[in-house]
Amino acid sequence: MEIQQIIASEYDFELERVVEWIKTNRFQRVLLQYAPGLAYYMPHIRTYLELNTQAKIFIEGRGRFGACDVFTTLKEFDAVVHFGHTGFLESDYPILYIPAYSNRKLSESILQKLDSFLTKYKKIGLEASIQHIKLLKDLSQFLENKGKIVYLGEPGKRGQFKGQVVGCDYYAGLRIDNLVDAHIIVAGGEFHALGLALSVNKPVIHIDPFREYVEEIDKRIIEKIHRIRCFAAFRLMQAKKIALVDSNLPGQHAPNLSERIVSFISKRKPGCHIDVFKIDVITDSFLMQLKELGYEVVLTLACTRLATDDFDRSPIPIFEAREVFRLFASGLSAERGVVMLQ
Ligand code: SF4
Repeated sequence: MEIQQIIASEYDFELERVVEWIKTNRFQRVLLQYAPGLAYYMPHIRTYLELNTQAKIFIEGRGRFGACDVFTTLKEFDAVVHFGHTGFLESDYPILYIPAYSNRKLSESILQKLDSFLTKYKKIGLEASIQHIKLLKDLSQFLENKGKIVYLGEPGKRGQFKGQVVGCDYYAGLRIDNLVDAHIIVAGGEFHALGLALSVNKPVIHIDPFREYVEEIDKRIIEKIHRIRCFAAFRLMQAKKIALVDSNLPGQHAPNLSERIVSFISKRKPGCHIDVFKIDVITDSFLMQLKELGYEVVLTLACTRLATDDFDRSPIPIFEAREVFRLFASGLSAERGVVMLQ
């Protein structure tokens, strides 16, 4: 298959726009960043860009988890092209965000499966991850033809389009939650669907266009996550040795908050030892190291989803540090699983 066919097979990488941007700005050294699922395409995109510009193109060694997961002071490169997310960081450093919209359509099979979930619900909220945001127009039409009333919420500060959700920002769903009977989210994999289900009170139906999968999120999964959060909160209350992990990434880093939390816990739990660790990405080996060092609980100021999604792989309970103040003031808020970032 030709390079262009490979590149254009699943996603719209908007390479004409990328080429134009590199040429217009006369960038000489450009780094490609990408959401983890897009790694396969990067060598082809690198070749294409080198053939069509004068720039030297480099590929980042690991996938980037979100638009928060970028550095804005890279000296080695003139610019970054970041595929798979929409940007929300304010920075003078030249970063071109390309959402990489999926080319997948809603197949007949998906729409038929979806039909069987619709009988119970009249008013429906629609959400999508950025890759599938363009499908919401067709989905709206399909639902309206079935006599449904469709709502799309304004996004939070981390999104750009009506109905768009980000792993740590479900305002698009939350804003319309009291208007709808259920939500439908279009997203590849479980990550965004689960995040939405943890953030709203209404049922969530998940469409995965890659797997041709339509399923209502099982309440038992949500309950399990809440139980795990309660367990982590309990361990935090008991702990004598705590690791507070603050991220170095500009979209996650919370320096003042880290100091406030240390001071807050030191007052509420006299005699409790708390150390602050700085890290880019929290890996399994890092968590294991913390356990071996005798920490009883990890408070995280990194990606808010660590506390809800990574408990299975973590040898230590993880608690979202931004919830600490409320936990000590009024107990754990059972109804909200994802702490949303602005
Ligand atoms: S903080 Fe986590 S969920 Fe939010 S954009 Fe970054 S990686 Fe995604």
